[in-house]
Amino acid sequence: MTPDDLLEEVRSNIDRPHGLVTFTPSLEAYYREATAAGRKRSALITGAIGLAIHQLFTVVILFTQPIESLGPKLAIFAAIDAFVLLVLAGIALLRDHRHRDVVLIGGLTLVSVLVNVSYYFDGTDMAYYGMMCYIFVPVVANSMLRLFFRQALLVSTIAFALFVVTILVKPGAPLHVQLVAMLLVFGCSAMTLWGNYRNDRDERFAFLYLTRERLLADVSRRQAEVLRELTTIDPLTSIANRRGFEERFDPLLTRCRHESRPVAVLMIDIDHFKAFNDRYGHMRGDACLRSVAQTLAGQLRSPDDLIARMGGEEFAIVAPGLQDGELVGFLERIRAAVVRLAIPHAGAGQGSPGHVTISIGCAVALPGRDDGWGTVVQRADRALYAAKRAGRNRWHVADETVDAIA
Ligand code: GH3
Ligand code: MG
Ligand code: MG
Repeated sequence: MTPDDLLEEVRSNIDRPHGLVTFTPSLEAYYREATAAGRKRSALITGAIGLAIHQLFTVVILFTQPIESLGPKLAIFAAIDAFVLLVLAGIALLRDHRHRDVVLIGGLTLVSVLVNVSYYFDGTDMAYYGMMCYIFVPVVANSMLRLFFRQALLVSTIAFALFVVTILVKPGAPLHVQLVAMLLVFGCSAMTLWGNYRNDRDERFAFLYLTRERLLADVSRRQAEVLRELTTIDPLTSIANRRGFEERFDPLLTRCRHESRPVAVLMIDIDHFKAFNDRYGHMRGDACLRSVAQTLAGQLRSPDDLIARMGGEEFAIVAPGLQDGELVGFLERIRAAVVRLAIPHAGAGQGSPGHVTISIGCAVALPGRDDGWGTVVQRADRALYAAKRAGRNRWHVADETVDAIA
Protein backbone atom coordinates (compact mmCIF):
# COMPACT_ATOMS: atom_id res chain seq x y z
CA MET A 1 0.00 0.00 0.00
CA THR A 2 1.39 3.43 -0.93
CA PRO A 3 1.30 6.17 1.76
CA ASP A 4 -1.50 7.92 -0.15
CA ASP A 5 -3.61 4.73 -0.34
CA LEU A 6 -2.99 4.13 3.35
CA LEU A 7 -4.08 7.68 4.23
CA GLU A 8 -7.24 7.19 2.19
CA GLU A 9 -7.94 3.87 3.96
CA VAL A 10 -7.33 5.41 7.39
CA ARG A 11 -9.66 8.31 6.61
CA SER A 12 -12.45 6.02 5.43
CA ASN A 13 -12.07 3.87 8.58
CA ILE A 14 -12.24 6.94 10.81
CA ASP A 15 -15.60 7.68 9.18
CA ARG A 16 -16.94 4.16 9.85
CA PRO A 17 -19.31 3.67 12.80
CA HIS A 18 -17.50 3.93 16.12
CA GLY A 19 -17.36 0.76 18.15
CA LEU A 20 -16.47 -1.61 15.33
CA VAL A 21 -13.47 -3.70 16.29
CA THR A 22 -12.42 -4.39 12.76
CA PHE A 23 -11.18 -2.35 9.81
CA THR A 24 -11.78 -2.64 6.10
CA PRO A 25 -9.91 -5.75 4.82
CA SER A 26 -6.78 -4.06 3.46
CA LEU A 27 -6.34 -1.81 6.51
CA GLU A 28 -7.04 -4.78 8.80
CA ALA A 29 -4.19 -6.70 7.10
CA TYR A 30 -1.91 -3.65 7.50
CA TYR A 31 -2.91 -3.23 11.16
CA ARG A 32 -2.27 -6.89 11.99
CA GLU A 33 1.13 -6.68 10.34
CA ALA A 34 1.96 -3.41 12.12
CA THR A 35 1.02 -4.79 15.55
CA ALA A 36 2.47 -8.28 14.97
CA ALA A 37 5.76 -7.71 16.80
CA GLY A 38 4.03 -6.32 19.92
CA ARG A 39 1.48 -9.15 19.97
CA LYS A 40 4.24 -11.74 19.63
CA ARG A 41 6.18 -10.18 22.52
CA SER A 42 3.08 -10.12 24.70
CA ALA A 43 2.31 -13.80 23.90
CA LEU A 44 5.83 -14.84 24.90
CA ILE A 45 5.84 -12.79 28.11
CA THR A 46 2.35 -14.01 29.08
CA GLY A 47 3.38 -17.62 28.35
CA ALA A 48 6.44 -17.26 30.58
CA ILE A 49 4.37 -15.78 33.44
CA GLY A 50 1.72 -18.51 33.01
CA LEU A 51 4.36 -21.23 33.13
CA ALA A 52 5.91 -19.75 36.28
CA ILE A 53 2.50 -19.64 38.02
CA HIS A 54 1.80 -23.18 36.92
CA GLN A 55 5.03 -24.29 38.62
CA LEU A 56 3.73 -22.78 41.90
CA PHE A 57 0.64 -24.99 41.60
CA THR A 58 2.91 -27.99 41.04
CA VAL A 59 4.79 -27.16 44.25
CA VAL A 60 1.50 -26.84 46.19
CA ILE A 61 0.35 -30.25 44.92
CA LEU A 62 3.71 -31.85 45.70
CA PHE A 63 3.56 -30.75 49.33
CA THR A 64 -0.15 -31.21 50.04
CA GLN A 65 -1.37 -34.26 48.15
CA PRO A 66 -1.09 -37.89 49.21
CA ILE A 67 1.89 -39.51 47.56
CA GLU A 68 -0.18 -42.20 45.81
CA SER A 69 -2.32 -39.63 43.89
CA LEU A 70 0.70 -37.56 42.76
CA GLY A 71 1.68 -39.60 39.66
CA PRO A 72 -1.25 -38.85 37.31
CA LYS A 73 -1.49 -35.24 38.52
CA LEU A 74 2.16 -34.48 37.92
CA ALA A 75 1.96 -36.24 34.55
CA ILE A 76 -0.90 -34.03 33.35
CA PHE A 77 0.82 -30.89 34.76
CA ALA A 78 4.00 -31.83 32.91
CA ALA A 79 1.97 -32.41 29.74
CA ILE A 80 0.45 -28.90 30.06
CA ASP A 81 3.91 -27.39 30.62
CA ALA A 82 5.36 -29.25 27.66
CA PHE A 83 2.47 -28.22 25.46
CA VAL A 84 2.69 -24.54 26.46
CA LEU A 85 6.45 -24.61 25.81
CA LEU A 86 5.80 -26.07 22.37
CA VAL A 87 3.26 -23.34 21.59
CA LEU A 88 5.70 -20.65 22.78
CA ALA A 89 8.50 -22.13 20.66
CA GLY A 90 6.17 -22.04 17.65
CA ILE A 91 5.28 -18.41 18.33
CA ALA A 92 8.94 -17.48 18.80
CA LEU A 93 10.09 -19.23 15.61
CA LEU A 94 7.25 -18.66 13.14
CA ARG A 95 7.85 -15.70 10.84
CA ASP A 96 4.34 -15.17 9.52
CA HIS A 97 2.11 -13.48 12.11
CA ARG A 98 -0.98 -15.23 10.69
CA HIS A 99 0.59 -18.61 11.48
CA ARG A 100 1.49 -17.37 14.95
CA ASP A 101 -2.16 -16.36 15.52
CA VAL A 102 -3.32 -19.85 14.50
CA VAL A 103 -0.79 -21.49 16.84
CA LEU A 104 -1.79 -19.19 19.70
CA ILE A 105 -5.54 -19.66 19.34
CA GLY A 106 -5.18 -23.40 18.69
CA GLY A 107 -2.80 -23.67 21.66
CA LEU A 108 -5.18 -21.87 24.01
CA THR A 109 -8.03 -24.15 22.93
CA LEU A 110 -5.96 -27.28 23.42
CA VAL A 111 -4.81 -26.11 26.86
CA SER A 112 -8.51 -25.71 27.71
CA VAL A 113 -9.11 -29.28 26.54
CA LEU A 114 -6.15 -30.58 28.61
CA VAL A 115 -7.33 -28.79 31.75
CA ASN A 116 -10.86 -30.16 31.31
CA VAL A 117 -9.56 -33.69 30.77
CA SER A 118 -7.41 -33.37 33.88
CA TYR A 119 -10.42 -32.20 35.88
CA TYR A 120 -12.66 -34.95 34.48
CA PHE A 121 -10.32 -37.72 35.60
CA ASP A 122 -9.41 -36.16 38.94
CA GLY A 123 -11.22 -38.06 41.68
CA THR A 124 -9.74 -36.11 44.61
CA ASP A 125 -11.13 -33.01 46.32
CA MET A 126 -8.44 -31.00 44.46
CA ALA A 127 -10.67 -31.39 41.40
CA TYR A 128 -12.98 -28.61 42.68
CA TYR A 129 -10.08 -26.20 43.06
CA GLY A 130 -8.81 -27.17 39.62
CA MET A 131 -12.26 -26.33 38.36
CA MET A 132 -12.12 -22.83 39.91
CA CYS A 133 -8.66 -22.29 38.45
CA TYR A 134 -10.23 -22.50 35.02
CA ILE A 135 -10.90 -18.78 35.33
CA PHE A 136 -7.25 -18.34 34.36
CA VAL A 137 -8.17 -19.35 30.81
CA PRO A 138 -10.38 -16.30 30.04
CA VAL A 139 -8.14 -14.02 32.13
CA VAL A 140 -5.07 -14.99 30.11
CA ALA A 141 -6.88 -15.07 26.76
CA ASN A 142 -8.84 -11.82 27.11
CA SER A 143 -6.67 -9.63 29.30
CA MET A 144 -3.04 -10.64 29.09
CA LEU A 145 -2.52 -11.71 25.51
CA ARG A 146 -3.21 -8.96 23.03
CA LEU A 147 -5.85 -10.98 21.21
CA PHE A 148 -8.19 -9.03 18.97
CA PHE A 149 -11.77 -9.00 20.28
CA ARG A 150 -13.05 -11.50 17.72
CA GLN A 151 -10.22 -13.90 18.51
CA ALA A 152 -10.82 -13.54 22.26
CA LEU A 153 -14.56 -14.10 21.79
CA LEU A 154 -13.85 -17.31 19.86
CA VAL A 155 -11.37 -18.68 22.41
CA SER A 156 -13.58 -17.78 25.39
CA THR A 157 -16.71 -19.27 23.83
CA ILE A 158 -15.00 -22.56 23.02
CA ALA A 159 -13.35 -22.69 26.46
CA PHE A 160 -16.63 -21.99 28.25
CA ALA A 161 -18.54 -24.56 26.17
CA LEU A 162 -15.89 -27.21 26.91
CA PHE A 163 -16.11 -26.37 30.58
CA VAL A 164 -19.90 -26.62 30.70
CA VAL A 165 -19.85 -30.00 28.96
CA THR A 166 -17.14 -31.36 31.30
CA ILE A 167 -18.97 -30.11 34.41
CA LEU A 168 -22.22 -31.66 33.28
CA VAL A 169 -20.81 -35.04 32.30
CA LYS A 170 -18.46 -35.49 35.25
CA PRO A 171 -20.21 -37.70 37.74
CA GLY A 172 -20.41 -36.91 41.40
CA ALA A 173 -20.04 -33.11 41.55
CA PRO A 174 -22.77 -31.52 43.70
CA LEU A 175 -25.14 -29.23 41.81
CA HIS A 176 -24.23 -26.10 43.80
CA VAL A 177 -20.53 -26.65 43.04
CA GLN A 178 -21.32 -27.11 39.35
CA LEU A 179 -23.43 -23.95 39.26
CA VAL A 180 -20.91 -21.81 41.17
CA ALA A 181 -18.06 -23.04 38.93
CA MET A 182 -19.99 -22.27 35.77
CA LEU A 183 -21.01 -18.83 37.04
CA LEU A 184 -17.45 -18.06 38.04
CA VAL A 185 -16.05 -18.95 34.63
CA PHE A 186 -18.93 -17.25 32.82
CA GLY A 187 -18.65 -14.03 34.88
CA CYS A 188 -14.90 -13.93 34.47
CA SER A 189 -15.17 -14.54 30.71
CA ALA A 190 -17.83 -11.85 30.28
CA MET A 191 -15.96 -9.22 32.30
CA THR A 192 -12.58 -9.84 30.71
CA LEU A 193 -14.18 -9.93 27.27
CA TRP A 194 -15.69 -6.51 27.92
CA GLY A 195 -12.24 -5.26 28.92
CA ASN A 196 -10.75 -6.85 25.83
CA TYR A 197 -13.38 -5.20 23.62
CA ARG A 198 -12.64 -1.74 25.03
CA ASN A 199 -8.91 -2.27 24.71
CA ASP A 200 -9.18 -3.47 21.13
CA ARG A 201 -11.47 -0.57 20.19
CA ASP A 202 -9.31 2.05 21.91
CA GLU A 203 -6.09 0.70 20.42
CA ARG A 204 -7.68 0.76 16.99
CA PHE A 205 -8.78 4.38 17.44
CA ALA A 206 -5.31 5.35 18.65
CA PHE A 207 -3.81 3.55 15.66
CA LEU A 208 -6.13 5.33 13.20
CA TYR A 209 -5.47 8.81 14.54
CA LEU A 210 -1.73 8.31 15.08
CA THR A 211 -1.30 6.82 11.61
CA ARG A 212 -3.25 9.70 10.09
CA GLU A 213 -1.08 12.27 11.91
CA ARG A 214 2.12 10.46 10.92
CA LEU A 215 1.05 10.26 7.27
CA LEU A 216 -0.04 13.92 7.20
CA ALA A 217 3.30 14.92 8.72
CA ASP A 218 5.03 12.90 5.96
CA VAL A 219 2.91 14.64 3.33
CA SER A 220 3.83 18.11 4.59
CA ARG A 221 7.49 17.10 4.86
CA ARG A 222 7.41 15.91 1.24
CA GLN A 223 5.65 19.10 0.16
CA ALA A 224 8.22 21.21 1.99
CA GLU A 225 10.99 19.31 0.19
CA VAL A 226 9.34 19.85 -3.19
CA LEU A 227 8.84 23.51 -2.39
CA ARG A 228 12.43 23.85 -1.29
CA GLU A 229 13.59 22.22 -4.49
CA LEU A 230 11.35 24.47 -6.54
CA THR A 231 12.82 27.56 -4.91
CA THR A 232 16.46 26.50 -4.96
CA ILE A 233 16.81 24.54 -8.23
CA ASP A 234 16.84 26.13 -11.67
CA PRO A 235 14.19 24.29 -13.72
CA LEU A 236 15.93 24.78 -17.06
CA THR A 237 19.34 23.34 -16.16
CA SER A 238 18.48 21.37 -12.99
CA ILE A 239 21.41 22.89 -11.12
CA ALA A 240 21.07 25.27 -8.14
CA ASN A 241 19.73 28.76 -8.79
CA ARG A 242 20.98 31.94 -7.14
CA ARG A 243 18.94 31.28 -4.00
CA GLY A 244 20.30 27.72 -3.72
CA PHE A 245 23.77 29.11 -4.23
CA GLU A 246 23.40 31.76 -1.52
CA GLU A 247 22.00 29.23 0.94
CA ARG A 248 24.98 26.95 0.60
CA PHE A 249 27.80 29.33 -0.14
CA ASP A 250 28.00 31.20 3.17
CA PRO A 251 28.10 28.07 5.40
CA LEU A 252 30.69 26.54 3.05
CA LEU A 253 32.87 29.63 3.24
CA THR A 254 32.61 29.68 7.06
CA ARG A 255 33.50 25.97 7.30
CA CYS A 256 36.48 26.36 4.97
CA ARG A 257 37.68 29.34 6.97
CA HIS A 258 37.63 27.16 10.13
CA GLU A 259 39.50 24.46 8.29
CA SER A 260 41.96 27.04 6.84
CA ARG A 261 41.17 25.98 3.29
CA PRO A 262 41.10 28.46 0.40
CA VAL A 263 37.82 28.80 -1.52
CA ALA A 264 37.90 29.64 -5.23
CA VAL A 265 34.85 31.44 -6.65
CA LEU A 266 34.38 31.37 -10.43
CA MET A 267 31.88 33.61 -12.22
CA ILE A 268 31.26 32.23 -15.69
CA ASP A 269 29.42 33.91 -18.57
CA ILE A 270 28.66 32.61 -22.05
CA ASP A 271 30.17 34.83 -24.70
CA HIS A 272 27.91 36.64 -27.16
CA PHE A 273 24.91 34.71 -26.05
CA LYS A 274 22.45 37.36 -27.13
CA ALA A 275 23.75 36.94 -30.66
CA PHE A 276 23.39 33.15 -30.28
CA ASN A 277 19.73 33.56 -29.37
CA ASP A 278 19.18 36.01 -32.18
CA ARG A 279 20.68 33.67 -34.73
CA TYR A 280 19.49 30.23 -33.60
CA GLY A 281 16.37 31.03 -31.63
CA HIS A 282 15.43 30.84 -27.98
CA MET A 283 14.90 27.03 -27.96
CA ARG A 284 18.44 26.36 -29.20
CA GLY A 285 19.58 28.96 -26.67
CA ASP A 286 17.94 26.97 -23.90
CA ALA A 287 19.52 23.72 -25.14
CA CYS A 288 22.88 25.48 -25.19
CA LEU A 289 22.40 26.66 -21.60
CA ARG A 290 21.61 23.06 -20.55
CA SER A 291 24.69 21.64 -22.29
CA VAL A 292 26.99 24.27 -20.82
CA ALA A 293 25.50 23.71 -17.33
CA GLN A 294 26.02 19.95 -17.58
CA THR A 295 29.55 20.37 -18.83
CA LEU A 296 30.42 22.76 -16.02
CA ALA A 297 28.85 20.40 -13.45
CA GLY A 298 30.98 17.58 -14.89
CA GLN A 299 34.12 19.55 -14.02
CA LEU A 300 33.43 19.65 -10.27
CA ARG A 301 35.99 17.71 -8.29
CA SER A 302 34.28 16.89 -5.00
CA PRO A 303 30.83 16.87 -3.33
CA ASP A 304 31.94 20.06 -1.56
CA ASP A 305 32.06 21.98 -4.87
CA LEU A 306 29.06 24.14 -5.73
CA ILE A 307 27.63 25.07 -9.06
CA ALA A 308 24.70 27.38 -9.76
CA ARG A 309 23.00 29.27 -12.54
CA MET A 310 23.09 32.83 -11.23
CA GLY A 311 20.71 34.13 -13.89
CA GLY A 312 20.56 34.40 -17.70
CA GLU A 313 23.70 32.85 -19.20
CA GLU A 314 25.76 33.34 -16.07
CA PHE A 315 27.00 30.54 -13.83
CA ALA A 316 29.05 30.32 -10.64
CA ILE A 317 31.32 27.57 -9.37
CA VAL A 318 32.75 27.41 -5.87
CA ALA A 319 35.69 25.07 -5.38
CA PRO A 320 37.16 24.79 -1.88
CA GLY A 321 40.61 23.47 -1.16
CA LEU A 322 42.31 24.17 -4.52
CA GLN A 323 46.03 24.68 -4.02
CA ASP A 324 47.83 27.59 -5.78
CA GLY A 325 49.25 25.36 -8.51
CA GLU A 326 45.92 23.69 -9.19
CA LEU A 327 43.84 26.82 -9.76
CA VAL A 328 45.10 27.67 -13.23
CA GLY A 329 44.70 24.07 -14.43
CA PHE A 330 41.14 24.00 -13.09
CA LEU A 331 40.16 27.25 -14.85
CA GLU A 332 41.70 26.15 -18.13
CA ARG A 333 40.02 22.73 -17.94
CA ILE A 334 36.62 24.37 -17.56
CA ARG A 335 37.16 26.78 -20.43
CA ALA A 336 38.41 23.99 -22.70
CA ALA A 337 35.53 21.67 -21.76
CA VAL A 338 33.01 24.21 -23.11
CA VAL A 339 35.09 24.70 -26.25
CA ARG A 340 35.10 20.89 -26.73
CA LEU A 341 31.30 20.92 -26.75
CA ALA A 342 31.72 22.55 -30.19
CA ILE A 343 28.26 24.14 -30.21
CA PRO A 344 28.25 26.13 -33.48
CA HIS A 345 28.00 29.89 -33.02
CA ALA A 346 28.43 31.77 -36.25
CA GLY A 347 26.86 34.97 -35.01
CA ALA A 348 29.61 36.26 -32.73
CA GLY A 349 31.19 38.54 -35.29
CA GLN A 350 34.57 38.83 -36.88
CA GLY A 351 37.42 36.89 -35.32
CA SER A 352 35.23 34.66 -33.18
CA PRO A 353 36.09 30.93 -33.04
CA GLY A 354 32.72 29.85 -34.58
CA HIS A 355 31.48 27.95 -31.56
CA VAL A 356 30.17 28.72 -28.10
CA THR A 357 32.78 29.86 -25.58
CA ILE A 358 32.77 31.16 -22.03
CA SER A 359 34.68 33.73 -20.04
CA ILE A 360 35.64 33.09 -16.42
CA GLY A 361 36.44 35.51 -13.61
CA CYS A 362 37.98 34.02 -10.50
CA ALA A 363 38.68 35.22 -6.96
CA VAL A 364 39.88 33.18 -4.00
CA ALA A 365 38.83 33.60 -0.36
CA LEU A 366 42.14 32.85 1.34
CA PRO A 367 42.55 31.46 4.86
CA GLY A 368 43.40 34.12 7.44
CA ARG A 369 41.57 36.88 5.50
CA ASP A 370 38.19 38.06 6.55
CA ASP A 371 36.51 38.62 3.19
CA GLY A 372 32.74 37.97 3.25
CA TRP A 373 31.14 36.10 0.41
CA GLY A 374 29.83 39.35 -1.13
CA THR A 375 33.35 40.76 -1.46
CA VAL A 376 34.74 37.58 -3.01
CA VAL A 377 31.87 37.35 -5.50
CA GLN A 378 32.34 41.03 -6.41
CA ARG A 379 36.03 40.44 -7.11
CA ALA A 380 35.19 37.39 -9.24
CA ASP A 381 32.63 39.49 -11.12
CA ARG A 382 35.20 42.20 -11.81
CA ALA A 383 37.64 39.55 -12.97
CA LEU A 384 34.95 38.23 -15.34
CA TYR A 385 34.57 41.62 -16.96
CA ALA A 386 38.32 41.87 -17.25
CA ALA A 387 38.23 38.53 -19.12
CA LYS A 388 35.48 39.88 -21.39
CA ARG A 389 37.42 43.06 -22.09
CA ALA A 390 40.53 41.08 -22.87
CA GLY A 391 38.71 39.32 -25.72
CA ARG A 392 36.49 36.53 -24.19
CA ASN A 393 37.02 32.73 -24.29
CA ARG A 394 39.50 33.08 -21.44
CA TRP A 395 39.83 33.24 -17.67
CA HIS A 396 41.08 36.02 -15.45
CA VAL A 397 42.10 35.83 -11.79
CA ALA A 398 41.20 38.86 -9.61
CA ASP A 399 44.11 41.19 -8.93
CA GLU A 400 43.58 40.96 -5.15
CA THR A 401 43.93 37.18 -5.35
CA VAL A 402 47.06 37.36 -7.48
CA ASP A 403 48.59 39.91 -5.05
CA ALA A 404 47.73 37.80 -2.03
CA ILE A 405 49.19 34.63 -3.50
CA ALA A 406 52.34 36.41 -4.73
P1 GH3 B 1 28.74 38.90 -23.47
O1 GH3 B 1 29.68 38.11 -24.28
O2 GH3 B 1 29.28 40.29 -23.17
O3 GH3 B 1 28.34 38.21 -22.24
O4 GH3 B 1 27.49 39.15 -24.37
P2 GH3 B 1 26.08 38.43 -24.21
O5 GH3 B 1 25.33 38.62 -25.47
O6 GH3 B 1 26.29 37.04 -23.80
O7 GH3 B 1 25.46 39.19 -23.01
P3 GH3 B 1 24.07 39.93 -22.83
O8 GH3 B 1 23.95 40.17 -21.36
O9 GH3 B 1 23.96 41.10 -23.77
O10 GH3 B 1 22.99 38.87 -23.27
C1 GH3 B 1 22.64 37.80 -22.53
C2 GH3 B 1 21.55 37.08 -23.23
O11 GH3 B 1 21.17 35.88 -22.58
C3 GH3 B 1 20.26 37.90 -23.34
C4 GH3 B 1 19.14 36.92 -23.21
O12 GH3 B 1 18.39 36.83 -24.40
C5 GH3 B 1 19.85 35.57 -22.98
N1 GH3 B 1 19.18 34.78 -22.01
C6 GH3 B 1 19.04 35.03 -20.70
N2 GH3 B 1 18.36 34.05 -20.10
C7 GH3 B 1 18.03 33.16 -21.10
C8 GH3 B 1 17.33 31.91 -21.09
O13 GH3 B 1 16.84 31.45 -20.08
N3 GH3 B 1 17.22 31.27 -22.27
C9 GH3 B 1 17.75 31.77 -23.44
N4 GH3 B 1 17.62 31.09 -24.56
N5 GH3 B 1 18.40 32.93 -23.44
C10 GH3 B 1 18.56 33.61 -22.30
MG1 MG C 1 27.22 36.66 -21.97
MG1 MG D 1 25.75 37.94 -18.94
